[in-house]
Amino acid sequence: MNKNPIAAIATPRGAGGVGIIRVSGPDLIGLAKTLLGTEPRPRFAHFLVLKDAHQEQIDQVLLLFFKSPASFTGEDIIELHCHGGPRVTQLVLNRVMELGSSDGVALAGPGEFSLRAFLNGKIDLVQAEAIADLINAQSDASLRGAALSLQGRFSEQINRLIDEITQLRILVESTLDFPEEEIEFIESANAKQRLEKIMNDLDQIIKISSQGKILRDGIRLALVGPPNVGKSSLLNTLVGEERAIVTPIAGTTRDRIIENISIDGIPVHLIDTAGIRDSQDVVEQIGVAQTWDEITKADIILLMHDVTKAPDVNFGDIETKVRACAHSGAHILTVMNKLDLLERQQTGQIKDVAITKQIYISAKTGEGIDQLKETILRFAGWEGNADGGIYTARTRHLQAILVAKDHLQKAMTHGFGGNRILELFAEELHCAQNYLGEITGKLLPDDLLGKIFSEFCIGK
Ligand code: GDP
Repeated sequence: MNKNPIAAIATPRGAGGVGIIRVSGPDLIGLAKTLLGTEPRPRFAHFLVLKDAHQEQIDQVLLLFFKSPASFTGEDIIELHCHGGPRVTQLVLNRVMELGSSDGVALAGPGEFSLRAFLNGKIDLVQAEAIADLINAQSDASLRGAALSLQGRFSEQINRLIDEITQLRILVESTLDFPEEEIEFIESANAKQRLEKIMNDLDQIIKISSQGKILRDGIRLALVGPPNVGKSSLLNTLVGEERAIVTPIAGTTRDRIIENISIDGIPVHLIDTAGIRDSQDVVEQIGVAQTWDEITKADIILLMHDVTKAPDVNFGDIETKVRACAHSGAHILTVMNKLDLLERQQTGQIKDVAITKQIYISAKTGEGIDQLKETILRFAGWEGNADGGIYTARTRHLQAILVAKDHLQKAMTHGFGGNRILELFAEELHCAQNYLGEITGKLLPDDLLGKIFSEFCIGK
Protein backbone atom coordinates (compact mmCIF):
# COMPACT_ATOMS: atom_id res chain seq x y z
CA MET A 1 0.00 0.00 0.00
CA ASN A 2 1.15 3.51 -0.84
CA LYS A 3 1.90 5.21 2.49
CA ASN A 4 1.99 8.79 1.20
CA PRO A 5 -0.74 11.10 2.44
CA ILE A 6 -3.60 11.56 -0.02
CA ALA A 7 -5.95 14.50 -0.46
CA ALA A 8 -9.17 15.12 -2.37
CA ILE A 9 -12.32 17.18 -2.45
CA ALA A 10 -14.83 14.90 -0.72
CA THR A 11 -18.01 16.80 -1.59
CA PRO A 12 -19.59 16.84 -5.07
CA ARG A 13 -18.47 19.45 -7.57
CA GLY A 14 -20.84 22.36 -7.87
CA ALA A 15 -22.24 24.96 -5.49
CA GLY A 16 -23.37 24.10 -1.98
CA GLY A 17 -23.33 25.42 1.56
CA VAL A 18 -20.23 23.53 2.60
CA GLY A 19 -17.38 21.83 0.76
CA ILE A 20 -15.03 19.35 2.39
CA ILE A 21 -11.42 18.61 1.58
CA ARG A 22 -10.15 15.41 3.10
CA VAL A 23 -6.54 14.38 3.75
CA SER A 24 -5.45 10.98 5.05
CA GLY A 25 -1.94 9.83 5.93
CA PRO A 26 0.12 8.00 8.51
CA ASP A 27 1.21 11.21 10.27
CA LEU A 28 -0.54 14.50 9.59
CA ILE A 29 0.24 16.36 12.81
CA GLY A 30 2.87 18.45 11.00
CA LEU A 31 0.48 19.47 8.22
CA ALA A 32 -2.30 20.24 10.72
CA LYS A 33 0.08 22.44 12.70
CA THR A 34 1.17 24.27 9.57
CA LEU A 35 -2.44 24.93 8.63
CA LEU A 36 -3.54 25.93 12.13
CA GLY A 37 -0.43 27.51 13.57
CA THR A 38 -0.98 25.44 16.73
CA GLU A 39 -1.21 21.83 17.85
CA PRO A 40 -4.52 20.32 16.61
CA ARG A 41 -6.90 18.88 19.16
CA PRO A 42 -8.43 15.60 17.91
CA ARG A 43 -12.17 15.68 17.17
CA PHE A 44 -12.40 19.41 17.82
CA ALA A 45 -13.60 22.00 15.30
CA HIS A 46 -10.81 24.57 14.90
CA PHE A 47 -11.60 27.83 13.10
CA LEU A 48 -8.94 29.26 10.82
CA VAL A 49 -8.50 31.72 8.00
CA LEU A 50 -6.81 29.91 5.13
CA LYS A 51 -4.45 32.06 3.09
CA ASP A 52 -2.66 31.40 -0.18
CA ALA A 53 1.09 31.69 -0.78
CA HIS A 54 0.73 35.49 -1.17
CA GLN A 55 -1.06 35.72 2.18
CA GLU A 56 -4.37 36.48 0.49
CA GLN A 57 -7.40 34.98 2.20
CA ILE A 58 -8.92 32.00 0.37
CA ASP A 59 -11.71 31.25 2.82
CA GLN A 60 -12.67 30.87 6.45
CA VAL A 61 -12.34 27.22 7.23
CA LEU A 62 -13.12 24.69 9.96
CA LEU A 63 -10.39 22.13 10.54
CA LEU A 64 -11.11 18.74 12.10
CA PHE A 65 -8.34 16.39 13.07
CA PHE A 66 -8.88 12.65 13.61
CA LYS A 67 -5.94 10.89 15.21
CA SER A 68 -4.98 7.43 13.96
CA PRO A 69 -6.37 4.82 14.47
CA ALA A 70 -9.70 6.45 15.45
CA SER A 71 -10.61 7.62 11.96
CA PHE A 72 -12.40 6.38 8.88
CA THR A 73 -9.20 5.20 7.17
CA GLY A 74 -7.40 4.21 10.36
CA GLU A 75 -4.74 6.82 9.53
CA ASP A 76 -4.56 10.46 10.65
CA ILE A 77 -7.26 12.44 8.87
CA ILE A 78 -7.63 16.19 8.39
CA GLU A 79 -10.93 17.55 7.17
CA LEU A 80 -11.20 21.15 6.03
CA HIS A 81 -14.74 22.49 5.80
CA CYS A 82 -14.93 25.55 3.58
CA HIS A 83 -17.71 27.17 1.53
CA GLY A 84 -19.04 24.83 -1.08
CA GLY A 85 -18.14 26.34 -4.43
CA PRO A 86 -16.14 24.63 -7.15
CA ARG A 87 -13.38 27.32 -7.12
CA VAL A 88 -13.18 27.60 -3.32
CA THR A 89 -12.80 23.86 -2.81
CA GLN A 90 -10.23 23.66 -5.61
CA LEU A 91 -8.16 26.51 -4.13
CA VAL A 92 -8.30 24.98 -0.64
CA LEU A 93 -7.17 21.65 -2.08
CA ASN A 94 -4.35 23.37 -4.02
CA ARG A 95 -3.17 25.10 -0.85
CA VAL A 96 -3.21 21.82 1.11
CA MET A 97 -1.16 20.20 -1.66
CA GLU A 98 1.34 23.08 -1.53
CA LEU A 99 1.68 23.02 2.25
CA GLY A 100 1.81 19.24 2.29
CA SER A 101 4.30 18.85 -0.55
CA SER A 102 7.16 18.22 1.89
CA ASP A 103 5.09 15.40 3.44
CA GLY A 104 4.53 13.95 -0.04
CA VAL A 105 0.77 14.66 -0.18
CA ALA A 106 -0.62 13.31 -3.45
CA LEU A 107 -4.03 13.52 -5.05
CA ALA A 108 -6.24 10.59 -4.03
CA GLY A 109 -7.36 8.13 -6.68
CA PRO A 110 -10.94 6.85 -6.95
CA GLY A 111 -12.06 5.13 -3.75
CA GLU A 112 -8.61 5.45 -2.19
CA PHE A 113 -9.87 6.53 1.24
CA SER A 114 -12.19 3.52 1.39
CA LEU A 115 -9.38 1.29 0.12
CA ARG A 116 -7.16 2.45 3.00
CA ALA A 117 -10.02 1.87 5.46
CA PHE A 118 -10.28 -1.67 4.07
CA LEU A 119 -6.53 -2.36 4.10
CA ASN A 120 -6.29 -1.05 7.67
CA GLY A 121 -9.07 -3.40 8.78
CA LYS A 122 -11.56 -0.63 9.61
CA ILE A 123 -14.18 -2.11 7.27
CA ASP A 124 -14.37 -5.27 5.20
CA LEU A 125 -14.92 -5.36 1.47
CA VAL A 126 -18.69 -5.79 1.67
CA GLN A 127 -18.86 -2.71 3.88
CA ALA A 128 -16.64 -0.70 1.51
CA GLU A 129 -18.94 -1.63 -1.35
CA ALA A 130 -21.94 -0.77 0.80
CA ILE A 131 -20.61 2.79 1.21
CA ALA A 132 -20.64 3.17 -2.58
CA ASP A 133 -24.11 1.63 -2.72
CA LEU A 134 -25.40 3.92 0.02
CA ILE A 135 -24.14 6.97 -1.86
CA ASN A 136 -25.61 5.77 -5.16
CA ALA A 137 -28.90 4.44 -3.70
CA GLN A 138 -31.87 5.40 -5.85
CA SER A 139 -34.67 4.39 -3.55
CA ASP A 140 -35.27 4.46 0.20
CA ALA A 141 -35.37 0.67 0.22
CA SER A 142 -32.01 0.29 -1.55
CA LEU A 143 -30.55 2.84 0.85
CA ARG A 144 -31.79 0.81 3.83
CA GLY A 145 -30.36 -2.34 2.23
CA ALA A 146 -26.96 -0.67 1.78
CA ALA A 147 -27.08 0.59 5.39
CA LEU A 148 -27.65 -2.99 6.60
CA SER A 149 -24.64 -4.19 4.60
CA LEU A 150 -22.58 -1.32 5.98
CA GLN A 151 -23.59 -2.25 9.53
CA GLY A 152 -22.14 -5.68 8.77
CA ARG A 153 -25.33 -7.78 8.53
CA PHE A 154 -24.21 -9.53 5.33
CA SER A 155 -20.58 -9.93 6.47
CA GLU A 156 -21.68 -11.44 9.81
CA GLN A 157 -23.60 -14.18 8.03
CA ILE A 158 -20.72 -14.94 5.68
CA ASN A 159 -18.19 -14.94 8.53
CA ARG A 160 -20.33 -17.26 10.63
CA LEU A 161 -20.54 -19.68 7.74
CA ILE A 162 -16.77 -19.52 7.16
CA ASP A 163 -16.23 -20.30 10.88
CA GLU A 164 -18.53 -23.30 10.73
CA ILE A 165 -16.85 -24.62 7.60
CA THR A 166 -13.42 -24.10 9.17
CA GLN A 167 -14.39 -26.02 12.30
CA LEU A 168 -15.72 -28.89 10.23
CA ARG A 169 -12.59 -28.92 8.10
CA ILE A 170 -10.28 -28.95 11.14
CA LEU A 171 -12.29 -31.82 12.56
CA VAL A 172 -11.98 -33.82 9.35
CA GLU A 173 -8.32 -33.02 8.87
CA SER A 174 -7.57 -34.18 12.40
CA THR A 175 -8.99 -37.60 11.56
CA LEU A 176 -6.89 -37.97 8.40
CA ASP A 177 -3.91 -39.22 10.40
CA PHE A 178 -5.98 -41.89 12.12
CA PRO A 179 -7.83 -43.69 9.32
CA GLU A 180 -8.95 -46.53 11.58
CA GLU A 181 -10.96 -44.12 13.74
CA GLU A 182 -12.23 -42.08 10.84
CA ILE A 183 -15.81 -43.39 10.59
CA GLU A 184 -16.50 -43.35 14.28
CA PHE A 185 -15.04 -39.90 14.60
CA ILE A 186 -17.07 -38.42 11.77
CA GLU A 187 -20.29 -39.96 13.04
CA SER A 188 -19.85 -38.95 16.62
CA ALA A 189 -19.13 -35.39 15.50
CA ASN A 190 -22.34 -35.21 13.46
CA ALA A 191 -20.30 -34.11 10.47
CA LYS A 192 -23.04 -34.84 7.96
CA GLN A 193 -25.68 -32.92 9.88
CA ARG A 194 -23.29 -30.04 10.30
CA LEU A 195 -22.57 -29.89 6.59
CA GLU A 196 -26.30 -30.09 5.85
CA LYS A 197 -26.94 -27.17 8.16
CA ILE A 198 -24.16 -25.13 6.52
CA MET A 199 -25.70 -25.83 3.11
CA ASN A 200 -29.16 -24.83 4.30
CA ASP A 201 -27.80 -21.61 5.75
CA LEU A 202 -25.99 -20.93 2.49
CA ASP A 203 -29.23 -21.45 0.56
CA GLN A 204 -30.87 -18.89 2.81
CA ILE A 205 -28.05 -16.42 2.09
CA ILE A 206 -28.39 -17.09 -1.65
CA LYS A 207 -32.07 -16.26 -1.39
CA ILE A 208 -31.53 -13.00 0.46
CA SER A 209 -28.56 -11.87 -1.59
CA SER A 210 -30.30 -12.48 -4.90
CA GLN A 211 -33.03 -10.20 -3.58
CA GLY A 212 -30.32 -7.82 -2.35
CA LYS A 213 -28.83 -7.73 -5.84
CA ILE A 214 -32.18 -6.65 -7.30
CA LEU A 215 -32.41 -4.03 -4.55
CA ARG A 216 -28.98 -2.68 -5.44
CA ASP A 217 -28.89 -2.99 -9.23
CA GLY A 218 -32.56 -2.40 -9.87
CA ILE A 219 -34.33 -3.55 -13.02
CA ARG A 220 -33.48 -2.36 -16.51
CA LEU A 221 -36.80 -2.10 -18.28
CA ALA A 222 -37.04 -1.29 -22.00
CA LEU A 223 -40.27 -0.17 -23.65
CA VAL A 224 -40.15 -1.55 -27.15
CA GLY A 225 -42.51 -1.88 -30.10
CA PRO A 226 -43.65 -0.31 -33.36
CA PRO A 227 -44.28 3.46 -33.48
CA ASN A 228 -47.47 4.86 -31.93
CA VAL A 229 -48.35 1.94 -29.69
CA GLY A 230 -48.01 4.14 -26.59
CA LYS A 231 -44.44 3.58 -25.35
CA SER A 232 -43.88 7.22 -24.44
CA SER A 233 -47.35 7.43 -22.90
CA LEU A 234 -46.55 4.43 -20.68
CA LEU A 235 -43.22 5.97 -19.66
CA ASN A 236 -45.03 9.14 -18.64
CA THR A 237 -47.67 7.17 -16.73
CA LEU A 238 -45.03 5.16 -14.85
CA VAL A 239 -42.94 8.25 -14.06
CA GLY A 240 -46.05 10.22 -13.12
CA GLU A 241 -44.91 13.21 -15.21
CA GLU A 242 -44.78 14.27 -18.84
CA ARG A 243 -41.19 13.30 -19.60
CA ALA A 244 -41.49 12.01 -23.15
CA ILE A 245 -43.24 13.78 -25.99
CA VAL A 246 -46.49 12.06 -26.96
CA THR A 247 -48.06 12.69 -30.36
CA PRO A 248 -50.10 10.69 -32.83
CA ILE A 249 -47.22 11.18 -35.31
CA ALA A 250 -45.20 8.00 -35.78
CA GLY A 251 -41.46 8.34 -35.15
CA THR A 252 -41.65 11.07 -32.46
CA THR A 253 -39.22 9.36 -30.09
CA ARG A 254 -35.88 9.31 -31.86
CA ASP A 255 -33.51 9.38 -28.93
CA ARG A 256 -33.80 6.96 -26.04
CA ILE A 257 -35.15 8.49 -22.85
CA ILE A 258 -34.00 7.06 -19.54
CA GLU A 259 -35.92 7.68 -16.32
CA ASN A 260 -35.26 6.21 -12.90
CA ILE A 261 -38.32 5.33 -10.91
CA SER A 262 -38.97 2.92 -8.10
CA ILE A 263 -41.69 0.31 -7.87
CA ASP A 264 -42.33 -0.75 -4.27
CA GLY A 265 -38.84 0.44 -3.36
CA ILE A 266 -37.08 -1.40 -6.18
CA PRO A 267 -35.13 0.93 -8.48
CA VAL A 268 -36.33 0.63 -12.07
CA HIS A 269 -34.35 2.14 -14.95
CA LEU A 270 -37.00 2.83 -17.51
CA ILE A 271 -35.96 3.26 -21.14
CA ASP A 272 -38.28 4.59 -23.81
CA THR A 273 -36.95 3.65 -27.21
CA ALA A 274 -37.57 4.73 -30.78
CA GLY A 275 -40.37 2.73 -32.42
CA ILE A 276 -39.10 -0.17 -34.48
CA ARG A 277 -39.77 0.36 -38.18
CA ASP A 278 -37.83 0.79 -41.40
CA SER A 279 -37.22 4.46 -41.90
CA GLN A 280 -35.37 6.59 -44.45
CA ASP A 281 -34.81 9.28 -41.83
CA VAL A 282 -31.15 9.11 -40.71
CA VAL A 283 -31.89 10.36 -37.19
CA GLU A 284 -34.67 7.83 -36.77
CA GLN A 285 -32.39 5.08 -38.05
CA ILE A 286 -29.86 5.92 -35.33
CA GLY A 287 -32.70 5.85 -32.77
CA VAL A 288 -33.81 2.41 -33.96
CA ALA A 289 -30.21 1.14 -33.76
CA GLN A 290 -30.12 2.38 -30.14
CA THR A 291 -33.36 0.51 -29.50
CA TRP A 292 -31.71 -2.77 -30.50
CA ASP A 293 -28.79 -1.93 -28.26
CA GLU A 294 -31.13 -1.35 -25.31
CA ILE A 295 -32.89 -4.65 -26.00
CA THR A 296 -29.60 -6.53 -25.54
CA LYS A 297 -29.05 -4.86 -22.15
CA ALA A 298 -32.56 -5.01 -20.68
CA ASP A 299 -33.60 -7.33 -17.82
CA ILE A 300 -37.23 -6.98 -18.83
CA ILE A 301 -38.59 -5.95 -22.20
CA LEU A 302 -42.11 -4.67 -22.45
CA LEU A 303 -43.03 -5.51 -26.00
CA MET A 304 -45.83 -3.07 -26.65
CA HIS A 305 -48.70 -3.46 -28.98
CA ASP A 306 -51.77 -1.43 -29.91
CA VAL A 307 -54.69 -3.65 -28.94
CA THR A 308 -56.97 -2.07 -31.55
CA LYS A 309 -54.53 -3.14 -34.26
CA ALA A 310 -54.35 -6.82 -33.22
CA PRO A 311 -53.37 -8.95 -34.97
CA ASP A 312 -50.72 -6.73 -36.52
CA VAL A 313 -48.73 -8.55 -39.18
CA ASN A 314 -45.50 -6.75 -38.31
CA PHE A 315 -45.77 -7.60 -34.67
CA GLY A 316 -44.84 -11.28 -34.95
CA ASP A 317 -41.80 -10.30 -36.94
CA ILE A 318 -40.71 -7.72 -34.34
CA GLU A 319 -41.30 -10.20 -31.53
CA THR A 320 -39.09 -12.82 -33.18
CA LYS A 321 -36.29 -10.32 -33.67
CA VAL A 322 -36.59 -9.01 -30.10
CA ARG A 323 -36.40 -12.53 -28.68
CA ALA A 324 -33.31 -13.27 -30.75
CA CYS A 325 -31.63 -10.05 -29.61
CA ALA A 326 -32.45 -10.14 -25.87
CA HIS A 327 -29.95 -11.76 -23.49
CA SER A 328 -30.76 -15.23 -22.24
CA GLY A 329 -31.82 -14.14 -18.75
CA ALA A 330 -34.13 -11.38 -20.00
CA HIS A 331 -37.89 -11.61 -19.66
CA ILE A 332 -40.23 -10.45 -22.38
CA LEU A 333 -43.72 -9.35 -21.47
CA THR A 334 -46.22 -8.47 -24.17
CA VAL A 335 -48.18 -5.37 -23.26
CA MET A 336 -51.44 -4.74 -25.07
CA ASN A 337 -52.03 -1.01 -24.77
CA LYS A 338 -55.07 1.21 -25.40
CA LEU A 339 -57.41 -1.09 -23.52
CA ASP A 340 -59.79 1.87 -23.16
CA LEU A 341 -60.48 1.68 -26.90
CA LEU A 342 -61.55 -1.96 -26.75
CA GLU A 343 -65.25 -2.81 -26.72
CA ARG A 344 -66.43 -4.02 -23.31
CA GLN A 345 -67.46 -7.48 -24.57
CA GLN A 346 -63.94 -8.02 -25.96
CA THR A 347 -62.24 -7.31 -22.62
CA GLY A 348 -64.04 -10.31 -21.10
CA GLN A 349 -61.92 -12.65 -23.20
CA ILE A 350 -58.64 -11.47 -21.68
CA LYS A 351 -56.75 -14.32 -20.05
CA ASP A 352 -54.51 -14.32 -16.99
CA VAL A 353 -51.07 -12.83 -17.54
CA ALA A 354 -49.43 -15.81 -15.80
CA ILE A 355 -50.68 -18.07 -18.62
CA THR A 356 -50.34 -15.81 -21.61
CA LYS A 357 -47.45 -13.52 -20.60
CA GLN A 358 -49.66 -10.82 -22.09
CA ILE A 359 -50.97 -7.96 -20.09
CA TYR A 360 -53.67 -5.48 -21.05
CA ILE A 361 -53.36 -1.87 -20.01
CA SER A 362 -54.31 1.64 -20.88
CA ALA A 363 -51.44 4.07 -20.59
CA LYS A 364 -54.05 6.79 -20.98
CA THR A 365 -56.51 5.88 -18.20
CA GLY A 366 -54.08 3.97 -15.97
CA GLU A 367 -56.12 0.78 -16.12
CA GLY A 368 -53.97 -2.31 -15.56
CA ILE A 369 -50.91 -0.29 -14.49
CA ASP A 370 -50.82 -1.69 -10.94
CA GLN A 371 -50.95 -5.22 -12.28
CA LEU A 372 -48.23 -4.32 -14.77
CA LYS A 373 -46.01 -3.08 -11.92
CA GLU A 374 -46.61 -6.25 -9.91
CA THR A 375 -45.81 -8.37 -12.95
CA ILE A 376 -42.59 -6.47 -13.61
CA LEU A 377 -41.38 -7.16 -10.05
CA ARG A 378 -42.40 -10.81 -10.28
CA PHE A 379 -40.64 -11.28 -13.61
CA ALA A 380 -37.51 -9.70 -12.15
CA GLY A 381 -37.57 -12.31 -9.38
CA TRP A 382 -38.42 -9.91 -6.56
CA GLU A 383 -40.26 -11.83 -3.85
CA GLY A 384 -39.72 -9.91 -0.75
CA ASN A 385 -40.76 -6.80 0.79
CA ALA A 386 -38.08 -4.20 0.79
CA ASP A 387 -38.59 -3.51 4.49
CA GLY A 388 -37.83 -7.09 5.40
CA GLY A 389 -34.16 -6.71 6.40
CA ILE A 390 -32.73 -7.38 2.95
CA TYR A 391 -29.16 -6.19 2.58
CA THR A 392 -27.77 -5.11 -0.77
CA ALA A 393 -25.56 -7.54 -2.63
CA ARG A 394 -23.62 -7.57 -5.88
CA THR A 395 -23.13 -9.99 -8.75
CA ARG A 396 -19.59 -10.59 -7.45
CA HIS A 397 -20.98 -11.79 -4.10
CA LEU A 398 -23.61 -14.00 -5.63
CA GLN A 399 -21.13 -15.62 -8.00
CA ALA A 400 -18.74 -16.41 -5.14
CA ILE A 401 -21.59 -17.85 -3.04
CA LEU A 402 -22.75 -20.09 -5.88
CA VAL A 403 -19.24 -21.44 -6.46
CA ALA A 404 -18.90 -22.05 -2.70
CA LYS A 405 -22.16 -23.96 -2.79
CA ASP A 406 -20.87 -26.11 -5.61
CA HIS A 407 -17.81 -27.01 -3.53
CA LEU A 408 -19.98 -27.87 -0.53
CA GLN A 409 -22.03 -30.18 -2.71
CA LYS A 410 -18.85 -31.90 -3.85
CA ALA A 411 -17.72 -32.13 -0.21
CA MET A 412 -21.01 -33.88 0.59
CA THR A 413 -20.36 -36.44 -2.15
CA HIS A 414 -16.78 -37.11 -1.06
CA GLY A 415 -17.67 -37.27 2.62
CA PHE A 416 -20.92 -39.17 2.60
CA GLY A 417 -21.41 -40.58 -0.91
CA GLY A 418 -20.69 -44.21 -1.80
CA ASN A 419 -16.95 -43.75 -2.01
CA ARG A 420 -15.67 -41.79 0.96
CA ILE A 421 -12.44 -39.82 0.33
CA LEU A 422 -11.86 -37.60 3.31
CA GLU A 423 -8.88 -35.74 1.82
CA LEU A 424 -11.12 -34.50 -0.99
CA PHE A 425 -13.90 -33.74 1.49
CA ALA A 426 -11.51 -31.47 3.41
CA GLU A 427 -10.18 -29.93 0.20
CA GLU A 428 -13.66 -29.04 -1.04
CA LEU A 429 -14.46 -27.43 2.31
CA HIS A 430 -11.27 -25.41 1.95
CA CYS A 431 -12.29 -24.19 -1.50
CA ALA A 432 -15.78 -23.21 -0.27
CA GLN A 433 -14.20 -21.31 2.60
CA ASN A 434 -11.87 -19.42 0.21
CA TYR A 435 -14.68 -18.35 -2.09
CA LEU A 436 -16.73 -17.07 0.83
CA GLY A 437 -13.61 -15.29 2.07
CA GLU A 438 -13.42 -13.43 -1.25
CA ILE A 439 -16.73 -11.77 -0.48
CA THR A 440 -15.57 -9.95 2.62
CA GLY A 441 -12.07 -9.57 1.22
CA LYS A 442 -10.30 -11.92 3.66
CA LEU A 443 -8.87 -13.64 0.64
CA LEU A 444 -8.74 -11.79 -2.59
CA PRO A 445 -6.86 -11.80 -5.87
CA ASP A 446 -4.99 -8.45 -6.13
CA ASP A 447 -6.45 -7.44 -9.48
CA LEU A 448 -9.97 -7.73 -8.10
CA LEU A 449 -9.26 -5.21 -5.37
CA GLY A 450 -8.09 -2.62 -7.90
CA LYS A 451 -11.16 -3.24 -10.03
CA ILE A 452 -13.60 -2.86 -7.15
CA PHE A 453 -12.19 0.42 -5.85
CA SER A 454 -11.64 1.96 -9.29
CA GLU A 455 -15.43 2.12 -9.62
CA PHE A 456 -15.65 4.44 -6.60
CA CYS A 457 -15.52 8.18 -7.05
CA ILE A 458 -12.66 10.40 -5.96
CA GLY A 459 -12.79 11.58 -2.35
CA LYS A 460 -14.70 8.50 -1.19
P1 GDP B 1 -45.14 5.73 -29.05
O1 GDP B 1 -44.82 6.21 -30.42
O2 GDP B 1 -45.20 4.24 -29.00
O3 GDP B 1 -44.23 6.29 -28.01
O4 GDP B 1 -46.64 6.21 -28.72
P2 GDP B 1 -47.14 7.53 -27.99
O5 GDP B 1 -47.04 7.36 -26.52
O6 GDP B 1 -46.47 8.73 -28.58
O7 GDP B 1 -48.67 7.48 -28.35
C1 GDP B 1 -49.12 7.49 -29.70
C2 GDP B 1 -50.58 7.95 -29.71
O8 GDP B 1 -51.39 6.99 -29.02
C3 GDP B 1 -50.80 9.26 -28.99
O9 GDP B 1 -51.77 10.00 -29.69
C4 GDP B 1 -51.32 8.85 -27.64
O10 GDP B 1 -52.16 9.83 -27.03
C5 GDP B 1 -52.10 7.61 -27.98
N1 GDP B 1 -52.18 6.67 -26.85
C6 GDP B 1 -51.14 6.15 -26.15
N2 GDP B 1 -51.58 5.31 -25.18
C7 GDP B 1 -52.93 5.30 -25.27
C8 GDP B 1 -53.97 4.62 -24.56
O11 GDP B 1 -53.76 3.84 -23.60
N3 GDP B 1 -55.25 4.84 -24.95
C9 GDP B 1 -55.56 5.69 -25.97
N4 GDP B 1 -56.84 5.87 -26.27
N5 GDP B 1 -54.61 6.35 -26.67
C10 GDP B 1 -53.30 6.16 -26.33
